Amino acid sequence: MPLELTANPLLCERTTLRLGGPAVVEAVVREASDLDELSAFLTRETLPPFVIGAGSNLLAGDDPLELALVRVADCPGPERVERDGSAIIVRCGAGLRLPGVLGWAQKAGFSGLEGMTGIPGTVGGAVAMNAGSYGVEIGDLVTRVRIWSPSGGLAWLDRNRCIFDYRHFSPVQMPGKCLVWEVELALRESDPKAVRQSMHDVYEKKKAAQPVTARTAGCVFKNPPEESAGRLLDQAGMKGVRLGHMAFSDVHANFLVNLGGGKAADALELMAMGRERVMDQFGITLEPEVIVL
Ligand SMILES: Cc1cc2nc3c(=O)[nH]c(=O)nc-3n(C[C@H](O)[C@H](O)[C@H](O)COP(=O)(O)OP(=O)(O)OC[C@H]3O[C@@H](n4cnc5c(N)ncnc54)[C@H](O)[C@@H]3O)c2cc1C
Repeated sequence: MPLELTANPLLCERTTLRLGGPAVVEAVVREASDLDELSAFLTRETLPPFVIGAGSNLLAGDDPLELALVRVADCPGPERVERDGSAIIVRCGAGLRLPGVLGWAQKAGFSGLEGMTGIPGTVGGAVAMNAGSYGVEIGDLVTRVRIWSPSGGLAWLDRNRCIFDYRHFSPVQMPGKCLVWEVELALRESDPKAVRQSMHDVYEKKKAAQPVTARTAGCVFKNPPEESAGRLLDQAGMKGVRLGHMAFSDVHANFLVNLGGGKAADALELMAMGRERVMDQFGITLEPEVIVL
């Protein structure tokens, strides 16, 4: 099958913040055999590639972006591949949506992912960001990752060849970007009802504290060491501050919300305002968690 290409893909249709102008092209990769063609395509295009998942951690600019988007779709799994002592090893393709994987794990009675309830991204995006919440980061569960790069092709990396830090993943000795193709996670056998209850509890807590159904990209800034970015922004008076049709949520100060028809320029200005106020008031520099394109 030829690589599926779309000209001028709109970022506002591919991101949960619903912001962003067109990129130049999007290439959709469905199976491993498409990757050779992707390599040839990226050489031909000479545009910087950007791997996009569910777009749930992206803030894309309003103007056209000189990028070739690459998206992994139609992924197999999740599937149970083996038992390793008390762990159940589960394999997931990068394009699978995390909520679907959690639903599968719940029905199968596999525990480990419950803290990640409510994270809307793909498995690939979760690994790339080392996404996590409520005490679980996906990197804690990874036993190996299969990555792809144009120069190295597909390769399995064991856990000890991966660096997982706070909202960061990279293969050891390979600081550049790579595409995450699939991943294996170590889960534990449990009672499906207990797993469901725990997922329900996490979701209820998030619903009470975060704008879970609004158009957002999750937390805008990373938590500084021993601090909460949300608390700092709240104390700096940013909760509910609005510019155009963008605002810091009045539920959680570290979430930017698109109220409908918002502009990335306003989102960026609000971020700058929040950083400045937190710096002035607390002397702390906030680092973005959202990827700004
Ligand atoms: C309502 C809401 C709640 C959220 N809650 C949380 C939370 O509790 N904890 C948390 O950590 N995050 C949270 N997020 C942010 C976001 O969901 C996570 O960062 C998620 O892991 C991003 O996955 P994605 O597929 O959407 O990636 P994208 O946003 O599409 O991309 C994010 C980064 O991952 C890279 N990437 C994506 N796919 C791949 C791949 N296959 N290979 C290589 N790189 C890839 C991209 O290049 C980019 O650098 C939340 C977001 C929303 C909207």
